[in-house]
Amino acid sequence: MTLDIQKIRADFPILQQKIYNRTLVYFDNAATTQRPQQVIDALNATYTTFYGNIHRAAHFLADKATAAYEETRDKVKNLINAESREQIIFTKGTTESINLAAFAFGEAFVKEGDEIIVSEMEHHSNIVPWQLMAGRKGAKIVMLPIDDNGRLKIELLDELISPKTKLIAVAHVSNVLGTINPIAEIAQIAHNKSIRILVDGAQAAPHLKIDVQALDVDFYALSAHKMYGPNGVGVLYGKKELLEQLPPYQGGGEMISEVKFSGTIYNELPYKFEAGTPNISGVIAFGAAIDYLLSVGIENLATWEHELLEYATSKLLAIPGLKIYGTQAQKSGVISFNVDGVHFFDLGTMLDKFGIAVRTGHHCADPLMDHFNIQGTVRASFAVYNTKEEIDVFVESLKKVISMF
Ligand code: PLP
Repeated sequence: MTLDIQKIRADFPILQQKIYNRTLVYFDNAATTQRPQQVIDALNATYTTFYGNIHRAAHFLADKATAAYEETRDKVKNLINAESREQIIFTKGTTESINLAAFAFGEAFVKEGDEIIVSEMEHHSNIVPWQLMAGRKGAKIVMLPIDDNGRLKIELLDELISPKTKLIAVAHVSNVLGTINPIAEIAQIAHNKSIRILVDGAQAAPHLKIDVQALDVDFYALSAHKMYGPNGVGVLYGKKELLEQLPPYQGGGEMISEVKFSGTIYNELPYKFEAGTPNISGVIAFGAAIDYLLSVGIENLATWEHELLEYATSKLLAIPGLKIYGTQAQKSGVISFNVDGVHFFDLGTMLDKFGIAVRTGHHCADPLMDHFNIQGTVRASFAVYNTKEEIDVFVESLKKVISMF
């Protein structure tokens, strides 16, 4: 099916405006996507018609809000093909999902001297939670390196895995390089050695069809705000037998079934991990974002974004002195680059004046920057509403900016 991109663009009110009197070109989708009217309407409808605190009160508004909140859980379950809805835990984002997993997994399974393998291309949110846990437990972080094309050297796993290895933490898609990692293969290597795998899906869930059962992963984390949904909502998926063995991450209301001063009995899955009042309206609006993604079709979206990636890559490579980081064939719509003699920050600042939003800096991936011996890059990242005409404007503006330096 060919997508009608102009029709899709019309769903996104924010894209209709001018910035500095120029048409906005929004290429910062890896940081956060924009929201269609359908998601904004769902958020609005929650607050204007059926808002109440979920799970607790026996009244109309609370019942309706609870049903809508729980309906999103079913939608996420279906979206990522989880075995059951109990395995879908709502959090405030990928960062919280990984912190939850690292804390609880560490408490349950990690002892002094144990090891966690973390890839060199990770976002800080899939490094620091493991370091915090390792610090508490006296465990060690072992790095799985990449090559200069942005490929994970998974052939080194055999060497890196030791009898002390407990878990491999890896991104499905790199937020800097765009590399799509061979998760099913890594999971198989891990499981052959009775090791668990956590996958950071923040950059994959907006672009790829995710099947956690086919991938056979133990944990999978994602963020709604990168999927045309609201911010402040994320998901941690976990295998049920694993989640059942983990202690709670936070204590409070909702995560208990009985509290006495002599001791507390925790609630069942997934509520054991959802302490306190969650982002009710955000989760409900995330349901609308999932409906939107499905109505576009994730395969259609992936095909279009790949076309944008190839179009932009060939145009950018024609610019003298421009270097792209991450050149894998299996790549999502992210292009990180630098231009000889011009600081990435200057490029980004000047592009902004042309109405073009890109990201500059280390992209929360310092170890990856160290690998390439750079301080940062310019990153252009695409979503389904982007067009080739926008890429033309971007490339022409970039050439003008370069010529100014
Ligand atoms: N992991 C990756 C690969 C990311 O790109 C990001 C955000 O950019 C995160 C994790 C953190 O996501 P959040 O800020 O939504 O928790």
